[in-house]
Amino acid sequence: MKLQEITDYLEDNFPLSLQESYDNSGLLVGNKSMELKSALICLDSTEEVVDEAIRKGANLIISHHPIIFSGIKSLTGETYIERIVIRCIQNNIALYAIHTNLDNHKQGVNAEIAKRIGLTQCRILRPKKGVLCKLVVYLPKEALEPLDKALFEKGAGRIGNYSECHFRTEGIGTFMPNEMAKPLIGKADKRSAISEYRVEYLVSYSKLQAVLAALETSHPYEEIPYEILPIDNENQDEGAGMIGELDNAMSEKDFLQELKTIFNCGIIRHTQLLNKSVKRIALCGGSGSFLLKDALNAKVDVFITGDFKYHEFFDAENKLLIVDIGHFESEQFTTNLLAEKLKEKFTNFAIHLTEINTNPINYF
Ligand SMILES: [Zn+2]
Repeated sequence: MKLQEITDYLEDNFPLSLQESYDNSGLLVGNKSMELKSALICLDSTEEVVDEAIRKGANLIISHHPIIFSGIKSLTGETYIERIVIRCIQNNIALYAIHTNLDNHKQGVNAEIAKRIGLTQCRILRPKKGVLCKLVVYLPKEALEPLDKALFEKGAGRIGNYSECHFRTEGIGTFMPNEMAKPLIGKADKRSAISEYRVEYLVSYSKLQAVLAALETSHPYEEIPYEILPIDNENQDEGAGMIGELDNAMSEKDFLQELKTIFNCGIIRHTQLLNKSVKRIALCGGSGSFLLKDALNAKVDVFITGDFKYHEFFDAENKLLIVDIGHFESEQFTTNLLAEKLKEKFTNFAIHLTEINTNPINYF
């Protein structure tokens, strides 16, 4: 199997356009045409992980955190980052990172955490704005069914748990082909007026390219009349953090104990207990303190994440319980999520999970 098959599949599911502007997800080392033996999945592609890949005969490392993040100006082997890149190139190992595009996806890092805790009724905590547009297409009525099918297949017309949504109105379209045109209907230099539909679809920008390609092949006109209109709605399927509920409320202490067990935490840092039961939970894998305001606005009982700083703990204002379970701990099951996703599609391809604990933080 070629590397491209894996990168295409991952990017169809978790488009690179979902990543944050500061991120560097995607193929970092390697050529998409290279033939794959097996893959090794990890959170951090450390030197030990590269050694493990060599030992296991894996020539693709898929990591959550991109090892090349803010650019490399030389490859001398002076830093661990340079050594990892050099070692991968020397051993013909490809490096692929799937970072904030997995964080910002409804079925990504946070969905996996929510699943492990047993949350239901999950939704994105801070849905993204500016990521949706409306596609308006004009077409003859009989072309509607095949066009609908083609566009829906590529992800147009999805809103939350609903798919195949469009809105259409009937009207009259007029046109006059010149002598060079090859019109489906009408004659050169003669103005026609025909009954048409105006059909509107909601499309995420991450799917727009595929949807437009489908429009191109399924619309019957020589010149396709369509409009792309940016809209300001939030996209409930893309964004940061997640919010959900426990089926049964628990005491704060029982909940903390359970988190400690599930995530195998050496330590949990938290704000003062509020002596109330816990049911509504907000969470964000990795460094999620930037979402505290969203968690407060959502009136959750607990906000779980990693990397909270001293002063930020004060901002809870006794309105919720901040629970810092650790960056690595919160994201550790991301490797399982990726392995399961890949196994759904590539049933005969060997996928290893790293056996190395790459958490750089130790607890004494
Ligand atoms: Zn992280």
